[in-house]
Amino acid sequence: MKIEDVKKIAVVGAGIMGSQIAENLSRLGKYNVCMLDKDDQLVRKGLQSIEFRLERYFVSKGKLTEREKQETMARITVATEIEKSVADADVVIEAIVENLGLKKEIFKKLDEHAPGGAMIASNTSLQNISEMASATKRPDKVVGIHFFNPVAMMRLVEVVKGVRTSGETLSLACDLARKLGKEPVVCRDSSYGFLANRAYIAMVNEAAQMVWERVASPAEIDKALMLGMNLPEGPLRVWDVTGGWPILVASEQDAIRELGPEKGRLNPIVRLMARSGYTRIYDFWEDVLSKW
Ligand code: NAD
Repeated sequence: MKIEDVKKIAVVGAGIMGSQIAENLSRLGKYNVCMLDKDDQLVRKGLQSIEFRLERYFVSKGKLTEREKQETMARITVATEIEKSVADADVVIEAIVENLGLKKEIFKKLDEHAPGGAMIASNTSLQNISEMASATKRPDKVVGIHFFNPVAMMRLVEVVKGVRTSGETLSLACDLARKLGKEPVVCRDSSYGFLANRAYIAMVNEAAQMVWERVASPAEIDKALMLGMNLPEGPLRVWDVTGGWPILVASEQDAIRELGPEKGRLNPIVRLMARSGYTRIYDFWEDVLSKW
């Protein structure tokens, strides 16, 4: 399939990423977008978040008229059942929770109900595309399209190639990313965390280790990285704000399996934060570690 043939795109999952992907696709004005989640309340919440962002970041800044906002909303339909909603989709983008078992179940179902020629993509940040593809009868049409948060602002899309992803599928995924104004970077799925997250997580872990060793405070470590490495924001602050620590905790077993115990096992400070109910290293330093 070529990008010119794509008319309808289904996005499975109406959470943080799914709702933003649906919104960005709809703003192009070229596609009918269907956004799915498990129940009516979740799809409604996804729609409300889209309307909020369109108002706040586009209408109020004069980048979209009220009418264009309404048209953008109108191009997005919602659904709670995969069966009918993907039956005429040309592309499906999965953005459900980061759990390989659940993703494989969804991929099996999508494969059963989407047209044979449709591309099925995952927005996973960490999980293996070939394994998701193995749940389908069309592994050549399965690919990773990894958007970054916030989708409207971040220019990178990692296009992730599974063992059996075809060249045609890769081209379609890259073309879709370009249509959205993104820069696709292709990588193989043999890397846990693909490119950007793999390197970034290693840096965040090392920065957290320095906090644990009390080499300096999180603010000082962030300052050193910003000024010394020319980073726009401190990685520890970024990880606090984007909810990165709970993701590391939830994915520890996957990380050990994929990276080995030395790299995969949680840093002691991250484990202690999780045990004592902290999700931000700045708070943990302030309340606990600086006095402990
Ligand atoms: P989220 O928890 O905000 O949303 C996930 C949504 O999927 C929820 O609304 C949930 O109800 C829905 N869902 C779960 N099972 C479902 C099913 N069977 N059918 C339909 N919907 C179902 O998660 P998120 O942050 O949007 O992450 C989604 C994916 O994107 C994950 O793979 C994640 O790793 C990846 N990702 C996240 C970010 C980020 O910054 N949050 C960035 C890039 C990639």
